[in-house]
Parts: sequence; structure tokens; C-alpha cells
Amino acid sequence: MHGPAAQTLQAIRGMHDILPERTGLWQTLEDRARAVLEGYGYQEIRTPLVEVTDLFKRSIGEVTDIVEKEMYSFEDRNGDSLSLRPEGTASCVRAAIEHGLVSAPRRLWYRGPMFRHERPQKGRYRQFHQIGVEVFGLAGPDIDQEVVLLTQRLWDTLGLRNLRLEINSLGEGDERAAYRRELVSYLEGKLEYLDADSRRRLRTNPLRVLDTKHPDTQAVIAGAPRFLDYLGEESQAHFDRFCAGLDAAGVGYEVNPRLVRGLDYYNRTVFEWIADGLGAQGTVCAGGRYDTLVARLGGRPTPAVGFALGLERLVSMLEAGPPPPDKGLDAYLIAVGDGPQAKALLVAETLRDASPRLRLICHCGGGSFKSQFKKADRSGARYALVLGEDELARGVIGVKPLREEGEQSEVALDQLGAFFATRTSN
Ligand code: ATP
Ligand code: MG
Repeated sequence: MHGPAAQTLQAIRGMHDILPERTGLWQTLEDRARAVLEGYGYQEIRTPLVEVTDLFKRSIGEVTDIVEKEMYSFEDRNGDSLSLRPEGTASCVRAAIEHGLVSAPRRLWYRGPMFRHERPQKGRYRQFHQIGVEVFGLAGPDIDQEVVLLTQRLWDTLGLRNLRLEINSLGEGDERAAYRRELVSYLEGKLEYLDADSRRRLRTNPLRVLDTKHPDTQAVIAGAPRFLDYLGEESQAHFDRFCAGLDAAGVGYEVNPRLVRGLDYYNRTVFEWIADGLGAQGTVCAGGRYDTLVARLGGRPTPAVGFALGLERLVSMLEAGPPPPDKGLDAYLIAVGDGPQAKALLVAETLRDASPRLRLICHCGGGSFKSQFKKADRSGARYALVLGEDELARGVIGVKPLREEGEQSEVALDQLGAFFATRTSN
């Protein structure tokens, strides 16, 4: 048959397959993060990937990069406007309100893919992954300190150095209003140096100008009034106690008065962890306090704080370090002859019962001893298990080490569990 060659299809630009040779690193990162989060008593929450578009407009803010130009929004068959989630906080708050999880202090975490239609480049993708934390019902600087200590512990656990912490305070409603007036009057005097987006935002949402990525505008921002000079007494005390808590714990930081965040909902404490080795896409963790969001989305006023980690950026840092612990195969079972081949899968089941953590491939598809043995060797397994007619008849199995010198020996089938108890790699 000579039909037209089928066209090959590719993944969507900016959305990547994570192939088996790299999933080990991802698993290391995810496993360690989960262990740290559980160690602090955080509970996992899983929410849908799709929400009504309005949720993101109301929480993230209409005049933000995400809502203005990065969302994957579409009409579903009912004519409702839905969006793939661009971040996790909005969904988490929506779910927490819907299920009454905001009434008592709650420590939650989530993980999974997020979607933003950005220009793909290193460290910036259209589908990317985050692990995030949201804490509801605690207003003090102690919990802000805890979430930072938790991230510090994660870096330590992962062996990541060269991360620096930047912090700032964005104050509260009145303080922001006063600051906004000063900022606007400063920026209006520099209109000619601002990029078009920033000029527009000056009218719609001037604080967003501080977050510009445009170099000329950044130069103007460098001379702008500082948020920290507009904090009232309480916000100042909150920030001071947060700083003192970090000092006491020996966590180094730098106060960056220009640090706002890319989303509208933050107030008071904001922070970012930045890896200088990653260039412009250096922020691996970003978060802060968002005390007004729960009420804005229809819940009872509830203070909240959280952060999100960018997993792709962390994985690329991990790649520079030592390889993750080996999760290779323990054994590859080959069977030669009709009788053994008919029995091989059952023998493998017995083995799995005896050693639940055993990583074992049972050869499928038949073939000669030689060709099966070659596959065993290529699999990377530590042992080949050989089942022939003779072994089957005597209730034993041949065990041949593949990664070190050593002769093939024989182990009774009912002793294999004990044999592997001391030899499995995990
Ligand atoms: P940036 O300023 O880099 O655009 P952001 O302020 O939009 O970041 P957040 O919404 O705070 O980022 O997301 C938290 C973290 O998620 C970021 O610090 C980053 O590590 C990661 N992240 C955000 N957008 C992307 C993306 N498009 N691709 C990969 N990682 C991302
Ligand atoms: Mg962004």
C-alpha cells in the first residue's frame, strides 16, 4: 500500500514533553518538596485545570500581563467563557471558599501545570509547572516567616545554593492610595521615557508600571518614590517583625523597594527567590500576602499568604548538580522454552508479592536465550533472572549479575524474596 505519508504531529509551541531520562529529576524535586510540605503540616489540594474566565479576571486583575494577553480562554459548548488556569492561587481560593476551608487556619499546597500564552524562551513556556502553597486565616508576620523558612529548607534539601531572597512590603489600602498618587505624579514627569504599555498603565493601574520588563522604563523606575516610605505604623511593624524573624533564623535577604508582583492581589509582604545563574528568567519562587482576595471572591474576609515555585527553572538548576539517586531496574526476567515462557509472568507475580519494592521487567515477546539476554543487559538491570526448562523443573532460577563481575548462581524460587530484600536499589 502506498498512501500519502501521514503528516507527523508535534507538541504545541512552548509546551514540552518531559521524557523518561529527565523524569527522575522531576520526581526528586516533587518528592522532596512534598516531604518538606508534609513536614510543616501542609495538606494537598487538587483543583480543575479549567475555571470560568471571570475568576482569573477578578482575582489576578484585569490590567495585568496574564489577563490582558497571556490567558488561554475559549468558549465551551454552552457559550461560557472558560480559561486554562494561568496560576494556582485563584482556583485554590475559589475552592477554599466553596468548601468552607477558609474559616479556620489552613495550610494548603498544590502542584500541576499552568498555562500562559507567552513568548517561549529558556525558562518561559506556555505550559509550565508549579508547586504552590496557600495559607488561610493567619494575619501575622510569623506565618510569612514560616513560608519563607519552608522554601529555605527546600533549597537545603535539594542542595541548591546561589539563591537570593528579595523582600518588600506593599502596605495596605490607604497607604497604597497615597503611594500611587506620588508614583503617578513622578511618572507623569517622565512620560517621554516610558514605553507605550507603561503609559497606558499609568492611567489604569500605575503600580504595574513598577513591574515593567522594558529597560528604558526600568531606568525611570529606579528613581521613583519607594513604597517603604509610605507604610503606616502597623504595616511597618508587620514588615519589621517579618525581617527580624528572618534575621533570627539566619535567612539572608535584600529589601528591594521596587519589588511588586505580577498579580494585583498582593498586600504587605511580598518576596521572590532569585537564581542569578538563570539570567532574565531567574525568579524560581514568588509569593506574598493577599489579605483582600478571599473577600473579593465572595468569601468572608480572611487573611492569606502564599507562594509558587516554578518547577522548570528549579529542574534546570538541579541539572547542574549531581545526578538524582539511581532508580534503575533491579532485575530482568528471561524465560527460554515453552514451559518457562508460559510461566514467566506468574513467576514474576510471585516475586513482586515477595518483594513489593522490586523493580522487575518480565521479558515479553519470546526469542532465543541470546537475544533475551542482550535485552536484559541493555535494560540497565542489576541482575538477569534466567528461567529454563531445567530450572523450572527444579523450582530454582538462575541469577546473573550484569553490572559487576560474578558467575551465574542458582536461587530457589521461594528464596528470591529474601535474596532481593538486601539487594533492591530503593
Ligand atoms: P515573570 O516575571 O518571570 O513573568 P511572574 O511574575 O509572571 O514571573 P508568577 O506568576 O509569580 O510569575 O509565577 C511564579 C513562578 O512561576 C515564577 O517565579 C516562575 O518561576 C514560574 N513561571 C511563571 N511563568 C512561567 C512561564 N511562562 N514558564 C515557566 N515558569 C514560569
Ligand atoms: Mg509573567
